[in-house]
Formats: sequence, structure tokens, C-alpha cells
Amino acid sequence: MSKMFADCPICKASQKLEVTTKTEKIPYFGEIMESTLLCHECGYKHADTICVEKKEPVKYTLTVEKENLNARVVKSQSSTITIPEIGLKVEPGPQSQGYVSNVEGVLDRFEKAVKTALSWAEDEQVKKNAVIILEDIAKVKEGKKEVTLVVEDPFGHSIIMHENALKSELTEDEIKKLKTGFTTFESDELETDNQDPSED
Ligand SMILES: [Zn+2]
Repeated sequence: MSKMFADCPICKASQKLEVTTKTEKIPYFGEIMESTLLCHECGYKHADTICVEKKEPVKYTLTVEKENLNARVVKSQSSTITIPEIGLKVEPGPQSQGYVSNVEGVLDRFEKAVKTALSWAEDEQVKKNAVIILEDIAKVKEGKKEVTLVVEDPFGHSIIMHENALKSELTEDEIKKLKTGFTTFESDELETDNQDPSED
């Protein structure tokens, strides 16, 4: 673990930002680096997890049961997390962070996000849906509802660590549909490149 001080990007205080980095080797996965930023002046906090090694695109699927709620999950900045049965999906964006948690921790994060959405929602249908999702998440945690946790990462920096987690490769099409969290050039015209010109 190493510590250093830097200038805070938020309040601009000089040398008040404590930067802690820690590298950790995860079995069958490789080395990851966790970094934490904490400003002693304004309280700004940011945590991130970066995989140090280059990897192939990957997809992990796990049927969530009460017994595997503590299975470790490494989510990189570039990964998409989906629970299709409940209609939950988190895609990478400029604000996305990587983290190391477990299945229950992922559910907690979804729960928090839905609660935030619920507090802002004005539309009755949106509110109703949010309440149903929260009930579903609670059922999953109690082992009363079976769902699938899917983690897709075009850079292969994410993992669900459990013997029942199914690891598969991403198809070219699946990779194209994933967002990376980085700014990319998007154009409708580019999609026609996928078509085989010999087909008519
Ligand atoms: Zn600050």
C-alpha cells in the first residue's frame, strides 16, 4: 500500500488530497489496483479499481442464490452489469467506478440507485415499477427469488468469483452493443459497415 498527497481537483487545496493505492493479486484473475482519493480539506472522496493486466473480452453469468451472495465480484469501470429478471442494468459512463464487492454488495448498489430514482420520480408508473424492483431485490437477498447476475466486460477486467459462475467469451456483436465508459464516436452510418456487401 502506498500513500501520497496531491492537490485536490475539487476545492484546489494544495497537498490536501490523500491518494492511497493498493495492489492485490486475485487468484485466476490477475493483479488489480485499488486507489482511493480523500481530501482532508473538503471531504471529496473517490475510489477506483483498475486491472493492471490486459485481458480478453469476457462475460460472467451466475444464478444468484442465498448461498452465493458472498461470492466476490470485481467490477471494472468498463463493465456492464445486468439482472435481466428484474430489468436492472448498469452501463459504464463517465461517472462509473470500478469496485471489488460481492453479489450482495452489487444488489445493495442497485437498491440504492433504485431508491434514488424513486425519490426523484414523479410519474406514477415509474414509482410503481421502482417499488416492485425494490421488493424483488429484497426477495433475492432472502433467497426467495432466483435471478441471474450477468457481468460483461469488453476489456476482461471484471470477474464473478464462484464455482457456479459461468465464464463465456463475448461475441463480436455483443461487444459492439456494450458501452465502454469511454467517449467513442457514434454514428448510424457506421452500423451499415457490419452488413455483408455481397448480400442483397
Ligand atoms: Zn478538496
